[in-house]
Amino acid sequence: MNDTTIHLALVDDWELSGSGAGDPHDLQFRPMRQLSEIYNKYGIRASFNAEVMQQLTFRDFQTQHPQLKNLADEWDASIQETFRQGHDIQLHTHPQWSSSEYRDGKWVLKGDWSIINYSLDEARQMLVRGKEYLENLLRPLNSNYRCISYRAGSWCVAPSSFMLSLLADLGIVFDISIIGKLKYDTRRIKLDYSNCEEDFAPFYPMMTDARRVSNKVERIVCIPTNHFYGSRRLTLKHHVSKIAARLSRSGTTTNGGTSGGYGSDWADASSVRRIYEKGVVPYIKGKHLISDLAQLDYSLMREMLASIRRRARATGLSNIPVVLGIHTKDIRVFDDIERFVSDISTAPDIKCVTLTEIARDLQNGTFAIKTRS
Ligand SMILES: [Zn+2]
Repeated sequence: MNDTTIHLALVDDWELSGSGAGDPHDLQFRPMRQLSEIYNKYGIRASFNAEVMQQLTFRDFQTQHPQLKNLADEWDASIQETFRQGHDIQLHTHPQWSSSEYRDGKWVLKGDWSIINYSLDEARQMLVRGKEYLENLLRPLNSNYRCISYRAGSWCVAPSSFMLSLLADLGIVFDISIIGKLKYDTRRIKLDYSNCEEDFAPFYPMMTDARRVSNKVERIVCIPTNHFYGSRRLTLKHHVSKIAARLSRSGTTTNGGTSGGYGSDWADASSVRRIYEKGVVPYIKGKHLISDLAQLDYSLMREMLASIRRRARATGLSNIPVVLGIHTKDIRVFDDIERFVSDISTAPDIKCVTLTEIARDLQNGTFAIKTRS
């Protein structure tokens, strides 16, 4: 029997809906405080990926629309407050904000949803601006702060002739955009991670295609965001309750963009039928599930953890980093997340870590990084 310590990073993608819809108070400021309170109560430190394209756009429009300035200021204050409590803030970008209009109090986002469809110069400009924004915001609180990890909006990072090199140039130590077995073919997102060569442990990617493992040390590491296979019984039970919740919400909400998970954003969800077909079915593709705490109930979180432990032990390594997802905007019930956080905070084989701690441990040799041998 070997003892594998799982270095578990809870990594929230903190943002409005992909369409730009929703009130930042409801989808970001309040749930971030609630989530941080849970983390603080159980003494764990977690990470928030701040989606900066949204914030840069709010700043771009704040002169004509002073209410956007207030929201952008509150965004800054939320990030700083969370960081002061010991949680990490890292880089996340949704490029659809790169071309936007603000009409009658609503955003119309016209940019392509996938950063790999932009030119190298356009992608560089977005990432540089985002990284500088976060570093300028947080260095006054900690002069050592820097952006060291990246998660692409809608997970779109590969294949790309330039993305990984660009991230490495910017000092990003590791990327967490790969999710094994994920596949989307929607109007907005086309992505095929069904044949990733590594979907659990850290690896050196081929620099033009993070779905493949390089045969040598590279300038950047990939750590997949975890996925697992839920049991048919729990998956079906959870699926049915989510549909019921969406049906009941659809009677009271007029804003389709705030009603579902990110799957529904991607397909122009304008009806419950579309949310079902385009949102839920691809998300729960068979029993394949993204390890996203906002999308799972407590029983599925337990199954996820059992899967992580099985896979971690099978590596035979003493230490392995595992990255989970959360989307504050999608959290409906905090109780299940709290039960889960309580469990992991006392588990002897689990150490809750921030992304910055993972970067340090990748660099100091704590974690083995795979190459194609
Ligand atoms: Zn996102």
